[in-house]
Amino acid sequence: MSTTLNPFKIAQQQISVAAEKLGLDPSIEAMLKEPQRVLIVNFPVKMDDGTTKIFTGYRSQHNDAVGPTKGGIRFHPGVTLDEVKALSMWMTFKCGVVGLPYGGGKGGICCNPKELSPRELETLSRAYFSAISQIVGPDKDIPAPDVYTTPQIMSWMMDEFSKIKQSNQFGVITGKPLIVGGSLGRNEATARGCAFTIKKAAQELEIDLKGAKVAIQGFGNAGSIAARLLDDMGCQIVAVSDSRGGTYNPNGIHPHAVQAHKEQTGSVCGFCQNDMGNDEILELDIDILVPAALENVITEANAANIKARIIAEAANGPTTPEADKILFKNGVMVIPDILANAGGVTVSYFEWVQNLMNYYWSEEEVNLKLEKVMFNAFDKTYDMSRKHHVDMRTAAYMVSIDRVAEAIKTRGWI
Ligand code: GLU
Repeated sequence: MSTTLNPFKIAQQQISVAAEKLGLDPSIEAMLKEPQRVLIVNFPVKMDDGTTKIFTGYRSQHNDAVGPTKGGIRFHPGVTLDEVKALSMWMTFKCGVVGLPYGGGKGGICCNPKELSPRELETLSRAYFSAISQIVGPDKDIPAPDVYTTPQIMSWMMDEFSKIKQSNQFGVITGKPLIVGGSLGRNEATARGCAFTIKKAAQELEIDLKGAKVAIQGFGNAGSIAARLLDDMGCQIVAVSDSRGGTYNPNGIHPHAVQAHKEQTGSVCGFCQNDMGNDEILELDIDILVPAALENVITEANAANIKARIIAEAANGPTTPEADKILFKNGVMVIPDILANAGGVTVSYFEWVQNLMNYYWSEEEVNLKLEKVMFNAFDKTYDMSRKHHVDMRTAAYMVSIDRVAEAIKTRGWI
């Protein structure tokens, strides 16, 4: 992987830019540029064909100055140590920008979940959690879902940890099914939070959401639910894509119908008459672009061709620093990942609080609390960007670095 596309190097660069603007103490900057702790685990899984495969997994804990670390676990063939480290750094700043009492963590297993049977998936999930069990816990590090991990997987992991601790440990992981301590609203939270930030951005830029044209790259949990919510807000979804490619209809796509097509055929492709590449979808003549898949899809190679006025990063790390510069110059508002997709971890926080209290809230209560958090985080970031004439990403980093730096100093670490 070239250095320019290495997410860990990108995360370090993003910290440098904000640190310079803040005049940050160089020791704090150095501390924030590395995770505090990284665990690499290699563990065996008995496969259905009788063989035993060794899998590699990671858990990175970036910084716990303001509270236990928090962040998802990803199952993907492309998972690397550097990717997990970067994702854990982004989690620290994500929690910071929405003001949660958490630092950042992230985990991953290099595997292809689409090739695993349900039994293999369960064995893999339990083995990984057991292997990292010493460093996680409700007051240490609280994992959650991420790319290709589900509430069912969270339930297996919680169960494995509960067996090790010989007591129910609902608070060790979030994104669980409701019956085992999940929170109402968690499943939709990433997309809902993203929709709230789009609403705010559209207000600031005086874009009418009624009829605003939207393209969504990635049709997993975040992308598919964002399509539904934005459609409810009056936007017109004109293109969606998944790992196999995209589909486009300038007159609008019905989110429920394309979801049904995906469930039937395994992909959104072929839903409209115009199929297109996953990258072509980014350059359409639209108002709002929602990258909701993986890292590094908006780069210096295509940033100048983007016509959308708002990019809301439902995915983590979809835009490179070179692309950020081009987009800022062209007046495109990028709502950065650490703000746009912070709804997921915010409702994870609500789930954890409910687990600790053993008292559960209504969906309405959760959504109202989420709205308040997201609006407030958007306003703080937007004000910072105006005050310092910086893009929204730098502003979001400035807001959260300020907070972590204060905790690091107050605790006497530096
Ligand atoms: N994986 C999600 C993220 O990247 C959620 C993390 C969480 O809920 O802890 O923000």
